[in-house]
This record gives sequence, C-alpha cells and structure tokens, in this order.
Amino acid sequence: MPSLVEMRGITRTYVMGDNLVHALRGVDLTIEHGSSIAIMGTSGSGKSTMMNIMGCLDQPTKGNYLLNGRDVARLSRAQLAEVRGRMIGFVFQSFNLLSRTSALENVEMPLMYQGLPAAVRHRRAMEALRKVGLADREDHHPNQLSGGQQQRVAIARALVTDAPVIMADEPTGNLDTTTSYEVMTILQGLVKEGKTVILVTHEQDIAAYAKRVITLRDGVIVSDKAQEPLDAAAAALAKPPGAGGEERAP
Ligand code: ADP
Ligand code: MG
Repeated sequence: MPSLVEMRGITRTYVMGDNLVHALRGVDLTIEHGSSIAIMGTSGSGKSTMMNIMGCLDQPTKGNYLLNGRDVARLSRAQLAEVRGRMIGFVFQSFNLLSRTSALENVEMPLMYQGLPAAVRHRRAMEALRKVGLADREDHHPNQLSGGQQQRVAIARALVTDAPVIMADEPTGNLDTTTSYEVMTILQGLVKEGKTVILVTHEQDIAAYAKRVITLRDGVIVSDKAQEPLDAAAAALAKPPGAGGEERAP
C-alpha cells in the first residue's frame, strides 16, 4: 500500500494586496496509514494551511503531494471534492453543524451526495451516532446539545462515509478539559480501529494523546517525534473534584 501522505517541497504563498504571505515554506512529510498525528505550533505557524492542503481543501503553490499514491497537487476542484469525499472526514473547532437540522440529519449530510437510499442513510447515520454515544439525541438540534455533544455529532458526520482518514483542526479548542478528553477518547478509539487520525492543536496536553507530534514554526517543520501516547479514556474518567463535565459556552 502506498503511504497515505507523501509531501515534497510543499509551499503555500498567499497574495495579500502587494504582500506575499509565506504560510508554508518547503514541507517534506510522509504519513503512513493507521497513524495518529498531532500537528503543533503557535498561531500563524501554518498548521491550518498544512491541514487544508493535506485534506484537499486547498492546493500548494509549489511542490508535490501524493495522497494514497495519487498526485493531488494539480487536480481540478471537482476531482479534489471526489477525493475528499472518499478519503477524508473533517472535524472543525467550531463544529460547523447546520443549526436548523437535527443531529441525525447533520450526520446524514455527507451521504446525500452519494445517492444512497434514505433507509441506508438513516441506518448508517444512526450507527455513527451510536458510536459517539449519542443515539438517544438523534432528534436534537445543535442548540439543544452541549458543546461536547455537538463535537461528537461532528465526529459522527466525519465517520459516516467510512473514510479511512479523520482530519481535525483544533477539535477541542472550544471545549473544557474533561470534555476534551472525551473527544480524544473517541479519536483514539478510531485509531485502534485502523483509521488515520490527524489533528491540529496548539495544546501540549492534547498532543500527548497522539503517537507522533509534528511541530511547525514559520511554515517549516522544526520537529517530528514519535511518543508513547497517554490514554484519553483514563483521563476522561479521572475528573477533578467538583468538575461536572460541562463545557464553558463557546
Ligand atoms: P495556524 O493554523 O498555525 O494558526 P495558518 O495556517 O492559519 O496558521 O496561517 C499561516 C499564515 O498564513 C499566517 O501568517 C496567516 O495569517 C496566513 N494566512 C492563512 N490563511 C490565509 C489566507 N486565506 N490569506 C492570506 N493569508 C493567510
Ligand atoms: Mg489554524
């Protein structure tokens, strides 16, 4: 099997009026299937730019990118969308759920584009909700769910197509500590099932749950280390005294 990600000399330059912003300045990176990766770095270091290119939401200015052996650096928008739909589920800091839509319908959304019969969509969306512990919340709208529950709906939506890769940009950024551990427990469970989880975070204690930590600074990789990950399920159970497990308002 080819590597999942094979990036060589990736640069991304944004044009802002008369200025050029060099968000990525020559990134070489290989990621194998089944990996658990945290991408770290201070604000503005290029984390989101890298994840967007990795996830075929954006394309590099220069360089080569093979995703699962396929050259995706120069695909058309339609081809990129097709690759994304098949390969990648996304989770964002702000959940990005449709507000007037139930949890179940939010999770079904990615399946709408696949032309599946309604009964199959429903069954698969319910399975995905069950997997994140929210089968009893299928009818709830996002504003009837806590932040942690909304993020679990977003993870179910990322899972429902059975894409082999989950990419998450600051998935715990709007959640309190205990709820963050619950989200990390779900993501670690996906790695155990053989999925690849790539997450962006600027928090050291979230990166501690990944098996490999890549650090960016000013658009280049300055460190790339394997580590023994902490167990998020244990951390989620060890709630500090008085902590109710409710997150602050986002
Ligand atoms: P991070 O996610 O690590 O905070 P980003 O990848 O969002 O960093 O940004 C890297 C650099 O690129 C920053 O200097 C940012 O201001 C710039 N940048 C990001 N997106 C754009 C854009 N769409 N247009 C112009 N500059 C951008
Ligand atoms: Mg970012």
